[in-house]
Amino acid sequence: MDALSIENVSKNYGTFKALDNINIQIKQGDFVGLLGVNGAGKTTLISAISGVKRFNGQIKVHGYDVENDPVNARHKLGVVPQELAFDPFLSVYKTLKLQSGLYGVKNNDSWIEELVERMYLKDKIDSNTRGLSGGMKRRLMVAQALVHKPPVIILDEPTAGVDVELRKNLWEFIKSLHTAGHTILLTTHYLEEVEELCNKIIMIDKGKILAESTKHDLINKLHDLPTTLELEFLDGKTLPSELHDLLIKQDNSIYTLKLENNDILVGILNLCKDRGLRLGNINIHKPNLEDIFINYIKR
Ligand code: ATP
Repeated sequence: MDALSIENVSKNYGTFKALDNINIQIKQGDFVGLLGVNGAGKTTLISAISGVKRFNGQIKVHGYDVENDPVNARHKLGVVPQELAFDPFLSVYKTLKLQSGLYGVKNNDSWIEELVERMYLKDKIDSNTRGLSGGMKRRLMVAQALVHKPPVIILDEPTAGVDVELRKNLWEFIKSLHTAGHTILLTTHYLEEVEELCNKIIMIDKGKILAESTKHDLINKLHDLPTTLELEFLDGKTLPSELHDLLIKQDNSIYTLKLENNDILVGILNLCKDRGLRLGNINIHKPNLEDIFINYIKR
């Protein structure tokens, strides 16, 4: 049985297609990164999976249909939404206790304590949520999504607006959830987050799936993209004609060249020196997942 099964899912807002016939199967134990630019449809898809937005098609969580069997489907799912929303007058402990009650989970104080500790909120357990910093609220959201120990966890940009140290802490925690056997779907704008954490990647744009692949296969695709050398010529000078074969793009005085190997770098720089060309910036760019993504979007 798949952890998440999304079949022919579409969602319209009026005449606008926010999701256009999405099909995704996620196996138990997968760690999937859902990538897309602003407005691609990630949050709409998560809202459909959570059962808070109506849609056409079928979604099952651990075999439970989110529309026909919402209670069981919701028990199998923990969602960390993008928007921070708490009762400002409840303490951290009461917030987690209330959430447990919503799922009918009783006597879970030891799990709440563990969550609070792992989210670095132990000294805030009796503080009202309105007194928490943005990063602390984000961590409380993660704890809240986990009170009922769901096997499938969806995190909608969990590290947005979070400082680097806390981001690394959250990564470690999310990794430990995955190691403990949870299936995870993570949306993010940070490609290094996906490279660090996920084993599968799904790219969506304008409500459609652009690519679905293992991280390994996507990284292999990087070999098809060239390493580039960016040269900025000063004094209104231009690229020597001998280098035109390597030219990928020109933007005013900045020329981007294909750098097949590092050996040709010395030759290029010596040629510029021999011609008396002064260089402003020199940048070498190795392709990364972002380049693959942009490549897909451009198609
Ligand atoms: P972001 O990365 O910015 O969170 P996203 O990929 O999560 O973006 P969605 O929030 O799913 O994108 O939005 C997908 C598209 O649907 C956008 O064009 C958005 O403007 C539109 N949309 C979302 N909610 C509504 C709504 N309630 N009414 C009308 N259009 C909506």
